[in-house]
Amino acid sequence: MVSRGSMDFLHPGSILGYPAGPMPRESKRALSFRAQRIRKVLFETHADAHCELDYTDAFELLCATLLSAQCTDKVVNTVTPALFRRFPDASQLAKARPSELERIIRPTGFYKNKAKSLIGMARAVVERHEEQIPDTMEELVKLPGVGRKTANVILGNAFDTPGLVVDTHVARLSQRMGLTQQKDPVRIERELMELIPEEDWTQFSHAMIFHGRRICTARNPACEGCPIFPDCPFPKRRTRKTRRRKA
Ligand code: SF4
Repeated sequence: MVSRGSMDFLHPGSILGYPAGPMPRESKRALSFRAQRIRKVLFETHADAHCELDYTDAFELLCATLLSAQCTDKVVNTVTPALFRRFPDASQLAKARPSELERIIRPTGFYKNKAKSLIGMARAVVERHEEQIPDTMEELVKLPGVGRKTANVILGNAFDTPGLVVDTHVARLSQRMGLTQQKDPVRIERELMELIPEEDWTQFSHAMIFHGRRICTARNPACEGCPIFPDCPFPKRRTRKTRRRKA
């Protein structure tokens, strides 16, 4: 799925039919305190959370992030060594033959679109930015295939500029945890930015993604034993919904 003409693939609101939302009658202040508790527990639980894509600089991270759409980081990491050996920088990638690039990145899926995005991005970087990946949201999102999610990955990890990444995990978890009721990723990002201190945006994204991959998975969230359980409305709502279905 290509959203808004970018390679930022996302399934907003994909909570598989389970209800989500805030704690009943929760004030803004209570939500803010609850968000801080969730952030603290996530940071303790996933102290090692980090970007799981392999890269050495902003160019490599941008390529890897574009390839990660609808693909696991593990698979991306199997193709990027060959990709970066053959095309070590934007100027080389800008001159790539699509067929050769497609052959290298094929395991990541949607390889024709991804090859177009990679070449388009590299050409724009060469033509507009003297072969350097730009370090602002404003310029990053003007690159072909780059949306806010990808731009935030680059800002947060390659440039040490806080970036709140709303991928499929962050969208699903923030809805389940009742931190937002929004479904649009840009609105989710905006609401999370108000709840989470700016200096923590990048690490909060990593911790949420780790939690979504390891505990709060899409189909089978391990609520029993989840450290967020006391502050998460999702298990209670799911129980109520199950009871209603049986009644
Ligand atoms: S309690 Fe359940 S829904 Fe809430 S964060 Fe944990 S695993 Fe996810």
